[in-house]
Amino acid sequence: MRTAPRGICGSLLRGVQVRSGTTPEVAEAGSLSSVEAYQSAILSAIAPLPPANLELADAEGCVLAEDVTAAVALPSFDNSSMDGYAVHAADVAGASADAPATLRVTGEIAAGDTGGYRLAAGTAIRIMTGAQLPAGADAVVPVEWTDGGSAEVQVHRPVEQGSAVRYVGGDAAQGETLLTAGTRMRPMQIAVAASAGRKAVTVRPRPRVVVLSTGDELTEPGTPLVPGQIWDSNSYMIAAAAREAGAVAHRRSVVPDDPKGVLPALEKQLTNADLLITTGGVSMGGEHDVVKAALRELGTVTFRKVAMQPGMPQGFGVIGQDKVPIFTLPGNPVSAYVSFQMFVRPALAALQGADDLSLPTAPATLTGPVRSPSGRRSYLRGVLDGTEVTPLSGQGSHQIAYLGRANALIIVPEWETQLPAGETVDVLVLP
Ligand code: AMP
Ligand code: MG
Repeated sequence: MRTAPRGICGSLLRGVQVRSGTTPEVAEAGSLSSVEAYQSAILSAIAPLPPANLELADAEGCVLAEDVTAAVALPSFDNSSMDGYAVHAADVAGASADAPATLRVTGEIAAGDTGGYRLAAGTAIRIMTGAQLPAGADAVVPVEWTDGGSAEVQVHRPVEQGSAVRYVGGDAAQGETLLTAGTRMRPMQIAVAASAGRKAVTVRPRPRVVVLSTGDELTEPGTPLVPGQIWDSNSYMIAAAAREAGAVAHRRSVVPDDPKGVLPALEKQLTNADLLITTGGVSMGGEHDVVKAALRELGTVTFRKVAMQPGMPQGFGVIGQDKVPIFTLPGNPVSAYVSFQMFVRPALAALQGADDLSLPTAPATLTGPVRSPSGRRSYLRGVLDGTEVTPLSGQGSHQIAYLGRANALIIVPEWETQLPAGETVDVLVLP
């Protein structure tokens, strides 16, 4: 069995991955491609990561690649759901506070006691929550309904047959499927697998993502800023977004706008990555668009304009011997963020064999008017509150401060150039 260090279910050193061997069908086009066409071109080039058998603690957050069945019935033995006395219900049938039933107490069974016990007629056995029901008993009287006696017990109320008893198989039958392939191993599912007797499960590991910001203007947050420079925010944001989408993601230091340096910087990351993401350097053809220039030479990454705003310039392809998928996102932070949610998130879902990463959509009423360029779908930053959505006033793709106030993206279709307040729109709820 392959195992990984605790808590890093994506950090197995994995060999060559089974991916479609062809360059994705993302033709470079002068015309705009639709968001959907671009998404499906990406997905056609991405195969799920090979499964690995991981210890439960390491499988946390990963997606199951097998069904998990119950090794034994749950519960696997009849047991008490209360602290009290195992009895024959018939022996306490007439009990009341005025006329309690008195039973001799012949023993005590604690949780974990694996001995075989039998309850004789007219007697009681003290029993704890989770302890095996003695043979012959058909109910448990809660201790609160008794005088709590140890040699003898007075029972003040009758109980029905089966009362406070958890029967074999009451939760699941032996062999029953408890978790199906494709389920993400969240805390509840980890507990289910453990309860089903599983020490390890076969899962798709978390994709390993490396994020590189490019740009001569970028410096590290925490260092002094000289006019002309900005602090790199994209790599932190995109790595965090990738983690939110189930990946193990790391940023690396900023890559300068040096045409000769870009490819080596990317290639250096290939052994650590199931997916590479760059930001910046893919605009509409300036000589400083070094990412585009460097990758275009490879012939395995294609660049196109997508009919959306923000996020029009996009690049996607594969790089290196193992054909590691690479996204080249635009540099403006809002563009990079929206591009991630529209294109990278589905790709991460595909790598994980997951279907739980789609952003929820909801209809909402605009509280103010919005504008959108003709022929492009806008994803405007908004604040969703119940069934109303308020467009934020700062819609520039550099306006990270406004992005930080948004909890939703307002979708304005390609054919609309403006919508008035009161109109119903679809919104994407941000994670
Ligand atoms: P580019 O796509 O490289 O032309 O960059 C477009 C805009 O995004 C420019 O204003 C850049 O300064 C800005 N930008 C690029 N990369 C980053 C980054 N990592 N963090 C913040 N802003 C960035
Ligand atoms: Mg740049």
